[in-house]
Formats: sequence, structure tokens, C-alpha cells
Amino acid sequence: MKTERSEKPEARPAELLRKPGPRRGREHAIRGIPVCPGIAIGPIFDTTEVPTEAPRRSIDTAQVEAEKGRLAEAVSLSRKQLAKLKTRLSVLPEEAQEELAPLLDAYVLMLGNSRLLRGARKRIEAELLAAETAVGDEAESIAALILAARDDDKPGLQRRAGEVREIARRLTRNLTSTPFRSLKGVPEGAILVAEELTPADAALLDPTRIAGVATDEGGADGHTAIMLRALGIPAILGVTGLSESAERGDLAVLDGATGTIVLRPGEKTMEKGRAALAAFAKERAKLAKLRRLPAITTDGELVELQANLEIPAELPLIAQAGAQGIGLLRTEFLFMNREDLPDEEAQLAAYTQVLEAMGGDQVTIRVLDWGGEKDMQALSEGVAPTHSGPNPALGLRGLRLLLKRPELLEAQFAAILRVAERGPVRILLPMVTNPSEVKAARDIYEKVARRLRRKGIAVPDKLPDLGVMIETPGAALAADAIALEADFFAIGTNDLAMYTLAVDRAETEVSHLYDSLHPAVLRLMQFATEAALRLRMPVSVCGEMAGNPRLVPLLLGLGIRCLSMNASAIPRVKQAVRALDIADCARFARRVMEQSDPARIHELVLNFETGAEKG
Ligand code: PEP
Ligand code: MG
Repeated sequence: MKTERSEKPEARPAELLRKPGPRRGREHAIRGIPVCPGIAIGPIFDTTEVPTEAPRRSIDTAQVEAEKGRLAEAVSLSRKQLAKLKTRLSVLPEEAQEELAPLLDAYVLMLGNSRLLRGARKRIEAELLAAETAVGDEAESIAALILAARDDDKPGLQRRAGEVREIARRLTRNLTSTPFRSLKGVPEGAILVAEELTPADAALLDPTRIAGVATDEGGADGHTAIMLRALGIPAILGVTGLSESAERGDLAVLDGATGTIVLRPGEKTMEKGRAALAAFAKERAKLAKLRRLPAITTDGELVELQANLEIPAELPLIAQAGAQGIGLLRTEFLFMNREDLPDEEAQLAAYTQVLEAMGGDQVTIRVLDWGGEKDMQALSEGVAPTHSGPNPALGLRGLRLLLKRPELLEAQFAAILRVAERGPVRILLPMVTNPSEVKAARDIYEKVARRLRRKGIAVPDKLPDLGVMIETPGAALAADAIALEADFFAIGTNDLAMYTLAVDRAETEVSHLYDSLHPAVLRLMQFATEAALRLRMPVSVCGEMAGNPRLVPLLLGLGIRCLSMNASAIPRVKQAVRALDIADCARFARRVMEQSDPARIHELVLNFETGAEKG
């Protein structure tokens, strides 16, 4: 499921991969990356292609060159997608590889100096057609010529015509940012299988209908994973070869905690799956009883457990989980799956809904963090850079984009300031590397507050706190300098690990290197935490580490007393907090921080025992 500008290969055209599959009909277990715990038993629903029909469009003479440029960009993106698909062939059975490799080569040839592209460019110039219209017309005219040829090999002709249409569809999708797959018609209780889901795709899933999700691509802390956890859908990502093996309608058992999916399970596996499903429900009921109990250590230290919110649909879950406020409201949802931008009023309505639902608990609103693998259609035209650049994660992401387009930041600040009268809010700045960025954001913040006051709009005398995400090595190492400009810190361990280790958080191929427990990441976290604590400035962890109960002793030992996580993780984390003693945690953290080998740190974390457990 892709929209434009991704360089990853999107789902293959259905006709491209009619797969022999590993011994069809037999039970087949595949492992992936565990992303959201829970058991799903149900039929596979592999997502289907959406026909790409771009509306016909004409252009002016003045637009010809730009249109040819758009076509060239789409060609280059399509080539990259196909090259990546080719590298993926190795996971397929040999027969499938033999069949597909020449086909992919043919597609790549059609993206060279081909009749299709020459014809499309000519149509742009001579007929003043938009690139997607020109490509569609030219492909249809070539396909008609092929089909009209005098040749007895009718299936061969149809295949060749199909290939031309297929490459035209790919170009059209890349020209129009049309999603590659449709989620419509997913039957209730199904396990959704896709080659890849974007965070925006995941946001559209209905957790009451979908039993589980499994995809070929993706990593544990990518935004798609975060979204799936937020929705509480049992999920595994990075299941290499899955869509080659799974067929729509196959029964499957998915275990989101172990990261396994068993296709066409036999009776024994089914029995085990049913037992695991019942055990999971029982444990959930047990954890629900913790809701009203405080998150307090055995020696009386209170720990604040807050929720991360990705979409408003999670609000009831947050209430059920017993969160003490929202430690990270990712506002990207406001910009997803829409054509236009949400204005100040629309944002105000959304923030009001959240604040009211939280009934007086603190809400930390992070301003838009566009960029990296978050692809938002609302931003892809007009606002976001037309080019995401060679390395989007290092480009105009987060606060960088907002400072370049201050009108976006102003609208967001204004909406937050207006809602601040209704309850305690804080504002969080994403992707900061330099104290000057915080200063610049604060200048805009204060200017917006003055403007609102001038207009007679009530704004609190003391403006809501303005905090900084510590999620780049630069910010962590300059935390003492940044702390002087900030009111609080929230440590974003997802990006911190990604940027420190130079490992894309959503990339399956390098997921084995993505490790938040790497000593380099932990040292940065420690440095930033200490910088905040020295100034008695609030500091929290809001990356995915915060929701892992096994990591609570280490985080408390490092001095963290506020954790913000996906709501469904709160009960387990609370259970962990309530079994810990702060002095034990501090000793443990010192021991961990002495280690230089990540594997040893994992071992220590895995084997940590509370005082009570040691007896
Ligand atoms: C992080 O990077 O750890 C974080 C919390 O922000 P996001 O996951 O939204 O990038
Ligand atoms: Mg981040």
C-alpha cells in the first residue's frame, strides 16, 4: 500500500505474482517482527489492487515543460521501485523467480527510451495533456495495436498488452499518489495481509473488524507499527515472503507476541491457537484490575504513566487503560488521508475533543512531525517539499518544515493556545537538533499569543510549556544547551535509535541492527536525562521503549519518572512499576551502563529480577 514518492516497491500487480507458494495446502509457519501482542485466528484477506483511473486533464502551453518533468520523476521513481522488487525476488520459490525476473526486466525497458514514453511526451507537447492522461492514452493506443496484430498467439498478445497497461498504471499511480491497494471489503474477523502498509493506511483500519495484520515489510518501531499498537490489532511486520505464501481465504493463526503466523494450520496448531487466545483474554481481564491502582514502586516512588495518542479513536482505550494524561499527542492524524490542510478551526475542534475526553488530565500536543516514512497526502501537494530528497529522514522533517512554512506552525500554535483555556496542555517540538530552532519556534509561539490577545481571544497568562523531543543524537548531546531554551524534554527513543545507529526504523532488511538497548543509544538517553534533572526540568520517555515492561527497571534507574506509551501497554508497565524498588533500579542501571556489548545488555535486561522475585 503505497502512495507516491515512496521508493519502496509497492504491492506487486496481481498478475505479476501468481505464486506457486511453498507446497500449497500444507501448514506453513513464517516468522516476522512482533509488533502488537494478541492472537488472531481467521481467514487471510490479501489486499486487492485499486484500478487506477486518473481524471482526464489538459494543460496550458506554459505547463508543458513542468509536465514533462513530472513524467521524468515518475519514471525514475518507478525504476527504483522495480529495482527494489527485483532484489526481493530471492525470497520466492525458484520457479517464480524464473518467471518474474524477465518480466521485471521488460518493465524496466519500458521505462527507458520506449515507445510508451516517447509517445506520452509527444502527447504532452502536441495535445497539451497532463502526464497521467498522456501515459494512459499512449498505453491504450499501443495495447490496441498489439491486440490487433495478426498472430495466433492470442494469449501472448494479451500478455504483452497487459504489460504495457501495467507499466502505465504504475506511472499513473506515481503521478497521482493513488494508493496501491484497497482496504474495502475486508470481511469481519479476517487477517489482513499486505506487502506493506503505510501509517496512513493503518489509520484507516477498524480494529473491531480486523482480527490481525501481517505484512512483508516494516520494522518494530516504524509508524505503521506504532499505529497498529495504538489500535490494539495483533500484528507482525517484516514477514519476508508472506504475501508469496498466503492466499486469500487461507485460514491462519497469528501470534503478535512471538511474531509468528501459521498458514493453513493443522488441527494441533488450531487447538494451540485457541488456547492462546483464551489465555490472552484472561490476562487482559487480570490487568484491567490494575486500572485504579497507582503506579508506585515498592519504596513509594510515584511514576507517571501517560498515553501516546495517534488517532482520536483511541480515546476510549486511553480512559480504560488508566493513563494519567497524554504524554504524546501525534498530530499527524489531522493531516492524513485528506486532500486539503486542516485549518485553525478544524484543529481547535480536534484538540477540544481530546481535552474534553481527558477530563482535566494533562495533554501534550506535539506539533506536526511530517517527514521520514510518514507519508501524508494532505501534505504531499503544495505544502510539503515537492521533492522528499535523497534521504527524507534527514531532510525537511518535523520542526524544520514548520519553520520553513511558519503559517503551518502559527495555525497549530493558535489552535493549541485557544484550547489551553479548557485544560492543561503542553506543546512539544519534534526533530530538533539546534537550540536556535527552539528559540525560533518560541518567537513564533509568543507572536501568535500576542496576536490572539490583541483580537480579544483568551489565552492563559502563563503560556503552556514548550518542550523538545530529544530524538536525534545532536539534540541528546546538546541537551544541556537545548534545556536552556526548553520547558521540558520528551525522549523519543524510536528516532534516537534510528539516527544514532543509522538504521531505518521501518526497514525490514536492517531491522536486526535497530536496537534501542545499544549502549550508544542508552548513553545519549542518560546524558539528556541528566541534563534535564540538573535543571529540575521534567523529562519523560515517549518512544516505544517506554511501553516495554522489561525496560522499566532500566528507565527508572536512569532517573526517568514519566513514561508515555501506547495505551494498551499501560497495565503491564504499571504491574512492572509496582514490583520495583528504586534503589534496585539505580543499581541495575549502573550495571547496564558499564556494558559495551549490546548482547550483554539484552541478557541483563532479560534476566533482571525484582527484589520480590529474588526472594
Ligand atoms: C520517537 O521518535 O521516539 C517518537 C516518540 O516520535 P515518533 O515515533 O512519532 O517519531
Ligand atoms: Mg520521532
